[in-house]
Amino acid sequence: MYPVKRIHLTLVTALMFLCSGTVLFGGIHTLRKGETLYGLARQYKTSVAQLKSHNGIRDHRSLQIGQRIKIPGSSSRSTSSTKTTSSYPSSSVGRGKTVVIDAGHGGKDWGAYRGGVKESYLNMKVAGKLEYYLKRHGYRVVMTRRSDSFLSLSRRASIANRYRNAIFVSIHFNATRNTWVRGAETFYAGAAGRQLASSIHRELASKCQMKNRGVRFARFSVLVQTKCPAVLVECGFISNPSERARCVTSSFQTTAAQAIAEGIRKYRWR
Ligand SMILES: [Zn+2]
Repeated sequence: MYPVKRIHLTLVTALMFLCSGTVLFGGIHTLRKGETLYGLARQYKTSVAQLKSHNGIRDHRSLQIGQRIKIPGSSSRSTSSTKTTSSYPSSSVGRGKTVVIDAGHGGKDWGAYRGGVKESYLNMKVAGKLEYYLKRHGYRVVMTRRSDSFLSLSRRASIANRYRNAIFVSIHFNATRNTWVRGAETFYAGAAGRQLASSIHRELASKCQMKNRGVRFARFSVLVQTKCPAVLVECGFISNPSERARCVTSSFQTTAAQAIAEGIRKYRWR
């Protein structure tokens, strides 16, 4: 499985080929300068693969500025697709606040690996979506990693410790030997982290309709070494086949990211 590389290749190459003006109307997006299938997929909460198949695009290098791209699932809407782009609220609630997003594992460290699914890959998917939603609320976002690269736990904490008025959110998926175990759990190691964990976890469990395994104390090294309020979110068990089938979907990852963003938004920053 090398989906990460494929997406990045699409993004980079498509960037080189696109350049100019846009119209959004009735489920059709007209490509403009700098836009990519990857960007559109994020904007319209779909996937690059769906956009390609929906539009019969075989090679993204054939994309041209001004090309009309049909957005999956929006063709029946008579209103402008601007509605779709703004369906997630934007605000300035996060101004002056920094969220350090840590996609767990990466590179040689895959984290859990079940049914051909790498935890490190899922973590990055949710982290990327979370970044998008937090930025819509005006937060400054720092990513400990954006690519499939290895980073030590102390390095992750040291990145977080560079920022003032910050919180640290580490994104993970869980696994255990018992394949029936399922649900979400959120960890903290300090008092400030506990409140943040509760706020995030409440949203995650309800919005994702997952079994609520609760907010838990754990002296995980990455949490202990981080000075700001720090949490580690386990978004679901990939050792549970049915939960894994959900976790790999873009829609689940979007809901999880929105839930975490909402939990952060509701957290009483101090
Ligand atoms: Zn993990």
